[in-house]
This record gives sequence, C-alpha cells and structure tokens, in this order.
Amino acid sequence: MAKYKRVLLKVSGEALMGNLGYGIDPAVANEIAEEIRDAVRAGIEVAIVVGGGNIFRGVAASAKGMDRSTADHMGMLATMINSLALQDALEQIGVFTRVLSAIDMKAISEPYIRRRAVRHLEKGRVVIFGAGTGNPYFSTDTAAALRANEINAEIILKATSVDGVYDADPRTNPNAVKFESLTHMEMLTRELKVMDSTAASLCMDNNIPIVVFSLKTKGNIFKAICGEKIGTIIEE
Ligand code: UDP
Repeated sequence: MAKYKRVLLKVSGEALMGNLGYGIDPAVANEIAEEIRDAVRAGIEVAIVVGGGNIFRGVAASAKGMDRSTADHMGMLATMINSLALQDALEQIGVFTRVLSAIDMKAISEPYIRRRAVRHLEKGRVVIFGAGTGNPYFSTDTAAALRANEINAEIILKATSVDGVYDADPRTNPNAVKFESLTHMEMLTRELKVMDSTAASLCMDNNIPIVVFSLKTKGNIFKAICGEKIGTIIEE
C-alpha cells in the first residue's frame, strides 16, 4: 500500500542532462518517465516541477551583465523546453500528461489553473508545471513549494544528484556526514542549501515535508513516490 496519494516531484534541469554537460539526454528522460509511469500505475497522483539549469540560469546570466528579469524569463522558457521533453517521454510510454504553464503559451501547453491541475490529477494524468512560478527572481524550487501547497500534495520529492542532505558538500569533502532527517528550521538556520531560502520558508511556514534523494540510483524515483525511506527527510 503506497504511503502517499498525491506527491509533487521536483526534477532539476541538471538531472535531465545526464552526463552530457548541456541540454537533455533523451535516455535519462526515458528512465525518469518509466519510474513515474510505475508510480502512476500504483495509483499515486504525480505532479512534476522541472528546473531549467541544464539550459539557462537567470542568476548566472545576470552576473555577466544581462538584465535579471529578462534572464529569468529565459530561464523560465528553459523549464518549458524540459517540461515538453518530459511530457514526450511520458506520453511515448502510454502515460497521459498535461503541461500547465505559468506563462501563457497556448499553442503548446495549457495555462496554469489550479482547479484544472487538480482535476487532471484526479483523472490520473501526470501534471507537469512549466515556467516556474511565472515570476522572475524566483526558482523552480519555490515553484515546487508553491504548487505543492496549492494542489495539497502531501510531500515534495526533490530528485538531485546527491543521495541526501549532508553537513558539507560530499563531492568535495570526504568527511561530510549525511542527515537521516532534519527539521525545516535546521534546514534554514544551518544554511544547508537544500533549496533557496524563499522555497525553504514556504515549506516551513506551510509544514510541507521534503525528501531529498538521488535519482542516479535506478528505482529511486519510484521508491520516493511510493514513500519508501530513502535520502533525507525534512519535516516539522
Ligand atoms: N525561474 C524564474 N522564476 C521561477 C522559476 C525559475 O525566474 O519561478 C528562472 C530562473 O532564471 C532560474 C531558471 O528559471 O535560474 C531555471 O530554474 P532553476 O534554476 O530553478 O532550475 P534547476 O536549478 O532546478 O535546474
């Protein structure tokens, strides 16, 4: 029996990149899609927020002189490219999906309407939220926290390249220690870089738990969606 009825999965742009260094690796998109399909078949309602860092990041471009709002608009367009890639991967294996964009792009997606998103989920469709929050100066982690609250998801599942939250960067510090669990307050005060502070506060204020796990281990997305204990859990 699955632990959750409705979850929000956050997939970073980097995850879709695989080992390519830029853009989308279709093989990785397919692997992610297969695990989501299995979870949907198990009866769990899955909503997804996809990042855009594999294509464009607003902050990085504005650091090089671009206007921040324009750069962020480009970042949000990057999330739409990823959303369509994931939609295609899912539909190719028989999963019904809808992309709902926070910025109107009527020819390629539905506009984001909360009630419509919930209805799609109730009908067993995977909902992919594109274009982040629709606003510059935010991140797709904030979009994940916002949408998770709006659709009453029970948990945010944050798929990353690291297998949980550590007290230091495990890629550069061999003595880094992994946390089994944390509170929202610890995530914020220890500046653990699970998500940016706007997203972290939104999760804390609305008491939504977060699981941080690695999608590099095959089967982890399915396990996380089904509520198996993996990675690090952040809750009240
Ligand atoms: N972005 C934004 N508002 C949002 C979400 C995203 O402006 O609500 C832009 C921002 O420029 C960001 C880019 O989209 O750098 C890609 O999103 P993010 O960096 O969160 O992607 P990830 O790191 O998850 O791949």
